[in-house]
Amino acid sequence: MSLSLNHKSMPSPTFSITTYGCQMNKNDSERIAGLLSSLGFVSTEDESRADLIVINTCSVRQSAENRVYGSQEKYLEYKKEKPNMIVAVTGCMPGRDKAREFQKRLPATDLYFPTPDMVHLPKWIAELRPDLVNSTDLESDYLKIHPLRAPSVQAYVTIQTGCNKFCTYCVVPYARGLERNRSVADILQECRELVAHGIIEITLLGQTVNSFRTSDPENFSSENPFCHSCGGRNPSDGSPGLAEPRPRMTNGDHFAALLWELNQLDGLERLHWTAAHPLSMSDEVIAALALPKQVNYLHLPVQSGSNDVLRRMNRKYTREQYLEKIAKIKAARPGIALGTDIIVGFPGETREQFAETLSLYREVEFDVSYNAQYSPRSGTLGVKLYQDDIPKEEKRERWDDLQALMEDITLKKNQALIGQTVSVLVDRIDHGFAIGNSREMKLVRFPLPKNPLDPPYQGEAGLVGQIVHVRVTDAKAWVLTGELVGKKIPVLNFS
Ligand code: SF4
Repeated sequence: MSLSLNHKSMPSPTFSITTYGCQMNKNDSERIAGLLSSLGFVSTEDESRADLIVINTCSVRQSAENRVYGSQEKYLEYKKEKPNMIVAVTGCMPGRDKAREFQKRLPATDLYFPTPDMVHLPKWIAELRPDLVNSTDLESDYLKIHPLRAPSVQAYVTIQTGCNKFCTYCVVPYARGLERNRSVADILQECRELVAHGIIEITLLGQTVNSFRTSDPENFSSENPFCHSCGGRNPSDGSPGLAEPRPRMTNGDHFAALLWELNQLDGLERLHWTAAHPLSMSDEVIAALALPKQVNYLHLPVQSGSNDVLRRMNRKYTREQYLEKIAKIKAARPGIALGTDIIVGFPGETREQFAETLSLYREVEFDVSYNAQYSPRSGTLGVKLYQDDIPKEEKRERWDDLQALMEDITLKKNQALIGQTVSVLVDRIDHGFAIGNSREMKLVRFPLPKNPLDPPYQGEAGLVGQIVHVRVTDAKAWVLTGELVGKKIPVLNFS
């Protein structure tokens, strides 16, 4: 993509991005920032003076959309002072607003486009502000735009977008379209570049990340044990795999093969991925949980413990099948921390069915759960098929019960860590404490060393971005407190 600017002797044009929602939206915003910076824009903290404001929206809950409607007044005010300001709205709202109904409630908005259409931004900006940009050259695939990331040792890498599962409560297949996967060549190139620039933790992103299937499996290494059909070894017995032609691989194998490839990257310390779908938790992906750079945490949304509710949610698995996957996961990676998502008050959910969710929760003993009260989302099958018949107060009560159970179990599991040593990737310093996540994705804090100038810490700032040993001395439900006992913990080898 060649781009030219129309502001040779002028100050650089400025942009500000507000991001709602999930990590994938954050990564999309990094792509928009990368695109704008390639156009010569620079980021500004003062959005009221920005030449371009981008709002990257989320549609998972109505409250997130309401915040976007509510912010329009502010942008109209900015435009009184700066009439040529461009306000752009992208993300899930325009993605699912095929009839452009929501747009009518966004009076300050000049550009309104689903995420993949960010490739047209240069042309659209040039049409509105020819003084800023005069290029119409485009990158055809937005996933090929290089994200502009804030300085960090952690990075998100989107490997898949969209979803084919059509759970009846979910807007994602409408907002982001059907599942689309990136090529292995592109993903590996991006990850290699990130590691070469000091990234030590990568989080792979996809709506059902473990259903990843690539169109270029020939780019997996021949030694890849999860890719026997690409010419590598057979994972079951180590025998040489099949040569050409490459037969279609079973679901999940491509993802396991990708995890293996990333485990070979020198310098990468931690590999994390989200969100997994239970259906795509193949035996190969479960085996890959034991790869050494894999964090000791898996997020596996269950949504409900009742087969009847799961069927009406169109989750396509049963409680028994979910529990069977969990048993295999715990066997493959003993001690792994588990997270999940649960919706309470789905239409028709009886108290008995909700009790089945509680009993599943007790059986699995999740470390964390993101619990939501069902809210109907326009355009989804759930709205068409079912009446939202659980009263608000009842939903709230069930949510409270689940939260209380979660906190009990989390606290018990965290207290069992007292006296143990965990490895922590420090990501910030706050009020005399270093803070970061353990490999179990638990928040850990510890007081700064008495003599912070001692090597290898080289002062407070030197701790940020390091993996250190911390002995846990106290545990609450949402934070472990400890003391620093050493620098980098060796990467455990579970294989
Ligand atoms: S798997 Fe279901 S909940 Fe997850 S993104 Fe796809 S449709 Fe939505």
